[in-house]
Amino acid sequence: MAGPDLVIRARRVVTPGGTRPAAVVIRDGTIAAIGPYDAVAGPAGETAILADDEVLLPGLVDTHVHVNEPGRDHWEGFASATRAAAAGGITTIVDMPLNSIPPTTNAGALRIKREAAAGQVHVDVGFWGGAVPGSAVWLPGLHAAGAFGVKVFLIDSGVPEFPPLDQAGLASVMARAAELGTVVLVHAEDAGVVAGAPPAAGPGYGSFLRSRPAAAEVAAVAAVIEAAQATGARAHVLHLSAADALGLLTAARRDGVRITAETCPHYLALAAEDVPDGATEFKCCPPIRERANSDRLWQALAEGIIDCVVSDHSPCPPELKARGGGDFGAAWGGISSLQLALPVVWTQARRRGHSLDDVARWMAAGPARIAGLDGKGRIEPGCDADLVVFAPDDGFTVDPARLYHRHRLTPYAGQRLDGVVRWTWLRGEPACGSRPVGRGLAREAAGR
Ligand SMILES: [Zn+2]
Repeated sequence: MAGPDLVIRARRVVTPGGTRPAAVVIRDGTIAAIGPYDAVAGPAGETAILADDEVLLPGLVDTHVHVNEPGRDHWEGFASATRAAAAGGITTIVDMPLNSIPPTTNAGALRIKREAAAGQVHVDVGFWGGAVPGSAVWLPGLHAAGAFGVKVFLIDSGVPEFPPLDQAGLASVMARAAELGTVVLVHAEDAGVVAGAPPAAGPGYGSFLRSRPAAAEVAAVAAVIEAAQATGARAHVLHLSAADALGLLTAARRDGVRITAETCPHYLALAAEDVPDGATEFKCCPPIRERANSDRLWQALAEGIIDCVVSDHSPCPPELKARGGGDFGAAWGGISSLQLALPVVWTQARRRGHSLDDVARWMAAGPARIAGLDGKGRIEPGCDADLVVFAPDDGFTVDPARLYHRHRLTPYAGQRLDGVVRWTWLRGEPACGSRPVGRGLAREAAGR
């Protein structure tokens, strides 16, 4: 039997069974074995030994990224987004079906996305499909072509080519998804509740917050639960911000409804009370809410009611963010954080007494499970050798000039964060260099 291609020794290796000293043995891009720290000899020159302040983490999996290419690649693109991901310790992204043109609502559009990504990605990239009114007939073809699931909106998405579904449309997509055995991802804000709220206007964040009340998320989550229960489909609530919806999720799961939920770094790390007037780089939908709400989201993560933390990296050109001169009603909603997600979450997590095992569960294993990526997100024999060297006690101040995102506007500018990503491997190959080593991924057939 051929020897290993690479052996990595670390005093702290974060595995599903806990953190321990180990040697990780890599063959053909896959984790072949995990042995005692000193046990395995690597080939000459192919043994990496981590410093004592470094931890070996599984490569993170970010299942909520808007790459926007083709069609809006002046917003973000595959090369820049995946370069940022690799620099931030994220080795797999799953791209959202909007705001690219065309949106990924049929197999032909998925093929166009794959072709746009080919040859220029630094991390592995999978693709969610999407459904808009009248597009349910395309779902079997989209599923067969390897889309990981189906995203839908219940409120205006912000782009005209991706309109929302009503309750009947949601039920019909859910029924189709149940037949196919795929997951439906929902942007859960209720259009009626938001229409009844005072519209956002001006530079004050309070006006924007009142325009997207927690009640809109609660009503939409209730509708998703109802549709999932009626159809037996598996549903996933995207970017949960309103802690008021947690009770519904808990009760639904107790009743056997197949529903999961994610939240995002900005809902955990930022608070409405701290958003300066006119600072539209903080605008996203649903909105960042009050600090007390964020505390409840942390509690739900600790209890496993929220399954994972993903970026919802959703950039746009700075002129769209600045539209209206700091008017929260006019600015584009979306926060860029792909490269910063891990240190942002770790900085807060450690203060709240959480470990890197928790962070790996929320940002690697959890999202991989939701996307059905069985070979990603864990340091375990048989999984891809997607690995990150992370120095949890080192720190840095966020300098937008050092971000690889196409646009560098970020609400984290100038913040001091804990945790530095020092190196990233993708399937055993260095991912932080200039050579794009990523691949396009398709939904894995069951039973891998
Ligand atoms: Zn999104």
